[in-house]
Amino acid sequence: MENDTTLRRWLDDLHQHRPLIIAGPCSAETEEQVLETARQLKAAGIKIFRAGIWKPRTRPGGFEGVGAIGLKWLQKAKAETGMLMAVEVANANHIKLALEHDIDVLWIGARTTVNPFVVQEIADALANTDKIVLLKNPVNPDLALWIGGLERLYNAGIKKLGVIHRGFSTYEKTKYRNEPEWQLPIELHQRFPHLPIFCDPSHITGRRELIQQVSQQALDLNYDGLMIETHPEPDAAWSDAAQQVTPARLAEIMDKLVLREQTNETEAFNSELEKLRRQIDVQDTQLIELLAKRMQIADEIGRLKKDCNVTVLQTNRWKSILEKMQREGQAQNLGEDFILKLFRAIHQESINHQEQIINKE
Ligand code: PEP
Ligand code: MN
Repeated sequence: MENDTTLRRWLDDLHQHRPLIIAGPCSAETEEQVLETARQLKAAGIKIFRAGIWKPRTRPGGFEGVGAIGLKWLQKAKAETGMLMAVEVANANHIKLALEHDIDVLWIGARTTVNPFVVQEIADALANTDKIVLLKNPVNPDLALWIGGLERLYNAGIKKLGVIHRGFSTYEKTKYRNEPEWQLPIELHQRFPHLPIFCDPSHITGRRELIQQVSQQALDLNYDGLMIETHPEPDAAWSDAAQQVTPARLAEIMDKLVLREQTNETEAFNSELEKLRRQIDVQDTQLIELLAKRMQIADEIGRLKKDCNVTVLQTNRWKSILEKMQREGQAQNLGEDFILKLFRAIHQESINHQEQIINKE
């Protein structure tokens, strides 16, 4: 699968320029809402319309989707606008109904991707159909689980594949509804360079004001497209109200996106880039050397603690290091979250070194 260049064929066959935008409401609510949104999106040049028909809710009691009746509304929207229709499917019955209603694109939601049994059931139900299937990342930041889902679909003969990056849930509340953890989709892309990749800034941010910025970040990382929740009256939406935008706002977002070249063949650009990359390489080597020196000091502290029979973890010391580094980091324009992750990793490595000394030397 890694080297299968045909993975992008369905995308190329759509003849859309990057980014390919999939837009539509979080949920289909009424026939009028579906048709109205579809008309406005068609006018904005959108080619793929999304709507949730069955909604996975974290807790019961929320709006759980209109169900199969909504598929009829999508059929009407398709007949009227010619847009491709996309829905979320989470079991074999959803797929049966979606296929009966001529749905073109099926996506697998984040709460479904986490379950290999369900993904396999979906893969079996879709085997050898020619539908476009998009796999959202699992809610937890587990790349192997995401890849496992892809392999199940690929092995079932589904070749019109793609992934949607919608961020990862965290216990700590951050500025995002779901942390992007960009490193994961980047790694996925390195492993499957021909696999189309979409970003869903709506579910990453949870807030419509942040959608422009995250969409731009995705384009800067060479994503093929975006999935953006769009509703004629976002504040009145039955689900995910805070993150939906009007079709007019979507058009503005699209308009403001800056599409940068993936490469630039000019001599001046290449030589300047090479020069800067050499500087980065030198700094990276120095970073490793510095880290190694820091660990040698940690080893010495480990020996001292061993001799004096003191525990490895000194909570107050760690707290004060972190506070000091966050202050210094801030002064150097380094993100608070970055400093926290960096020093957690460094601290963990120091603990590992000291554990080894105390228990083995
Ligand atoms: C959705 O797209 O409306 C949805 C439920 O998304 P996710 O699976 O990413 O939470
Ligand atoms: Mn939603």
